[in-house]
Amino acid sequence: MRRIIWFRRDLRTEDNPLLALEGEVLPIFIFDTNILNNLAKDDRRVCYIFKRILWLKKALKKKGLDLKLFYGDPSEIFTYLAKMGFDEVAASGDYDSYARQRDLEISHILPFNRLHDTYIFSPDEILKDDQTPYLLFTPFYKKALTLFENKHLREYPSIQQKLYETDYEGILHYTQTEKKICAIDISSIGFQAVSLAIPNPKEKLSDLGKKLNHYAKERDIPSLESTSSLSVELRFGVLSIRQLLRFLAEEKKQGKETEAFFRQLVFRDFYAYLLYHFPHVEIHNYKYSFHGIQNRKKYKAFTQAKTGVPIIDAGIRELLQTGRMHNRIRMVCASFFTKDLLLPWQWGERFFARYLLDYDAASNILSWQWSAGTGVDPQPYFRIFNPYLQSKKFDPQARYIKKWLPELNTLDAKIIHDEKAMHQHKIIAYPHPIIDHKLAAKEALEYFKASLLRT
Ligand code: FAD
Repeated sequence: MRRIIWFRRDLRTEDNPLLALEGEVLPIFIFDTNILNNLAKDDRRVCYIFKRILWLKKALKKKGLDLKLFYGDPSEIFTYLAKMGFDEVAASGDYDSYARQRDLEISHILPFNRLHDTYIFSPDEILKDDQTPYLLFTPFYKKALTLFENKHLREYPSIQQKLYETDYEGILHYTQTEKKICAIDISSIGFQAVSLAIPNPKEKLSDLGKKLNHYAKERDIPSLESTSSLSVELRFGVLSIRQLLRFLAEEKKQGKETEAFFRQLVFRDFYAYLLYHFPHVEIHNYKYSFHGIQNRKKYKAFTQAKTGVPIIDAGIRELLQTGRMHNRIRMVCASFFTKDLLLPWQWGERFFARYLLDYDAASNILSWQWSAGTGVDPQPYFRIFNPYLQSKKFDPQARYIKKWLPELNTLDAKIIHDEKAMHQHKIIAYPHPIIDHKLAAKEALEYFKASLLRT
């Protein structure tokens, strides 16, 4: 068997099903122009991927293999590769609508061997008794616990594979009109390098071991850094989900508390599962017909961290400066965006997609729909977070806020959590709140009710 093994969301050599396939292989990575053409030239994720690709190429070379790099439209590239006599292309599953459409097109060019890798469960593994998908997390989770077994922890061996030799070294730009080989440099794909730390996933795992016992209690406190920060490694498959699960199983044996963390991993699965079964939620509300009100001025204030609401602006600064944002802060920001500002959730989703280093279509879309109250879950549309109560509860000393908004260092935390006081502060470098929360929440409820009556 001669096959192309296509690395996508699995940029690693350990525990990778692609490297457990027998026969002759051509390992490839495609810089997909359909995706790249829509990104800013200083996109952090592209830089992250590029660095990881260089690392993967080196690691594969140590195994006697290599990673061939392409730039272009995947269908055109596979049409070109198909002429070389491959029997199939193997790749792990990817569930957003673009990826599914792309893989479908490629399956018409070459037989497509879809491998299960990125998530704990395959999308059809957990179904209700009537064989339909779950819509609620708790029953999904309960069923997941009953189905979870040793096979979900299996480690794929890295076997001896024969490399299909090619005669070029570089990035092969391949389009219908042009075929050229460029140097392996990020500038060859039209992007620029940005300064970015690439932590070792194994170190992160051992760090997680120290956090597990406090995870349930502290995971909502953004100043504590008590979560794993493994979402980026999971997103790009630098760490396999099974490696992480095996690590948790070992920690559990040592008496560590692992359930709360495991639950979040199942959450990640659940969101991918929902996107797989209900692909239209990528753009459309699952329930309710409200769409938000387009308002460029409010959007600009939010995306420039100039709302005057400290917890929101701190979160957006963290996102813009690092590509990261703590989960609790994502929830508060998304609620503020869709409820207080009444903006369309799709705008917020796109904004997060532009900057999040761990951007994952399923987790991002479903979380935004959850916040907007339009998703599959029973989250009521009338639940509106009060950003000041949220910051008081989860950042009582305003440590997180002051880290990202140092201009507020002179203010007492009590003032920062007090909406009325924030309307009166005298700090020139920081705006007063652009809205009054109580009023905005009231208006949002009226808008939602009126939209419901219209349907
Ligand atoms: P930990 O608390 O250490 O959790 C471990 C792992 O579990 C995470 O790495 C992640 O893979 C998964 N996980 C944890 N919480 C969630 C959750 N609520 N939903 C789904 N999976 C979860 N996560 C993304 O990976 N990509 C996104 O694009 C993304 N967008 C989001 C947008 C909004 C509006 C919200 C509210 C949440 C979003 N999340 C997203 C989920 C969550 O915020 C991140 O996974 C988490 O903050 C990553 O930090 P961590 O690795 O330290 O998480």
